Amino acid sequence: MKHGVLKLPLNLCRCMKMQKEFRKFCPKCKTHTTQSISIYKKGKDRKMALGARRHAEDKKGYGGQKFPELKRTAKTSKKITLKYTCKNCQRKTMKEGMRIRKLEIQP
Ligand SMILES: [Zn+2]
Repeated sequence: MKHGVLKLPLNLCRCMKMQKEFRKFCPKCKTHTTQSISIYKKGKDRKMALGARRHAEDKKGYGGQKFPELKRTAKTSKKITLKYTCKNCQRKTMKEGMRIRKLEIQP
């Protein structure tokens, strides 16, 4: 191996480029089909959900904070979830927990 060649690991790259469509196995069609990708986004929280009400009740009053608040995070990337949509049957499959800084979806 040559000296002076700096090889960065994949997860240190500034951004990742992906094609919008590619062929992947579909569990419903049971073959490889053309699938489009998009980034999964979390839906809006319901304020009156039981967990949210319980959490609000726990945090209320003096000494309500149960764990130290995170001031600075050590990580520079976030986990994203990819959503694949099958062109034949519209079945959606997810790929969870990819740690990248930025994802560019190219047409
Ligand atoms: Zn399918």
